[in-house]
Amino acid sequence: MENFKSESIIDFFDTYKTDKDCLFYLAKIKWQDGFKCKKCNNTKCTIRKFNYARDCNLCHHIESSTANTLFHKVKFGIRKAFTIVFEMSCATKSVSSSQMARRLDISRQTAWLFMHKVRLAMKSSDLYPITGHVLVGEFVYGGKEDLKQGRSNNSKKKKVVAAVKIDKKRGVKRAYFKRIDNYSSKELSKIFVSHISNDAKITTDKWKGYQPLKKDYNITQIKSNVSDFFEMNTIIHQLKAGLRSVYSWMHEEHIKKYLNEYSYRLNRSKHKQTIFDNLINRMVKSKSTSYKEIIISS
Ligand SMILES: [Zn+2]
Repeated sequence: MENFKSESIIDFFDTYKTDKDCLFYLAKIKWQDGFKCKKCNNTKCTIRKFNYARDCNLCHHIESSTANTLFHKVKFGIRKAFTIVFEMSCATKSVSSSQMARRLDISRQTAWLFMHKVRLAMKSSDLYPITGHVLVGEFVYGGKEDLKQGRSNNSKKKKVVAAVKIDKKRGVKRAYFKRIDNYSSKELSKIFVSHISNDAKITTDKWKGYQPLKKDYNITQIKSNVSDFFEMNTIIHQLKAGLRSVYSWMHEEHIKKYLNEYSYRLNRSKHKQTIFDNLINRMVKSKSTSYKEIIISS
């Protein structure tokens, strides 16, 4: 089975006609570098169940292709789970759990939980900091919307700092977001540490909170005017509109996951043909997780 390369839902359903097709695809990814028994570390096995499970030749532990991945114990059907991953990877904005539940005839709670597992796989590895020209700024989300731009200390609003990489033609290359509690240097530094290279050329507005970060980063502070921050403001506007249209409410503890989801898709907008395959690979390589871990994770 070839790596899946398409944005077409027809190609998707032609490729994954049954649950077995999906389990076979997971097996191919999971054991692409060979087999190693989880119980005894033996590397010899027999292929079982139409090529999607492995039977250890030494201790006879049988491992399915979903075991210990984010597809672990998916009870509503692996093909439906694949469909959710496909919809979430190819969507322009996002899809809501109630929409997925209706379309796949599963409960909203089941869809909600699995979609959070997909979001865990969308989390950045933080291994590839942005270099080049980066715009950094903050915005607020939630509470009563107002027209005031910039920093708001309204405690009901969720505060977010954004880093947006701009290319030579002033197009957006990558974007990352971090939830912050306030606008102090310590909070703002979170996005620098996770996502910005020390040699990046960073532009911020004149907020004093960025000044202490100048000792470690190349920061130019300019007067906040619309044209210099246009690309960043456009991304923030799209993000807020997307969140408003799909999620009528959002618990505080989950906003980070939605921000990860938005970044993941945005940063791969030039690779839409392979985004589904990339996400399935990430889900196979991520450890399985429980409901409790989903609730407390960020
Ligand atoms: Zn074994």
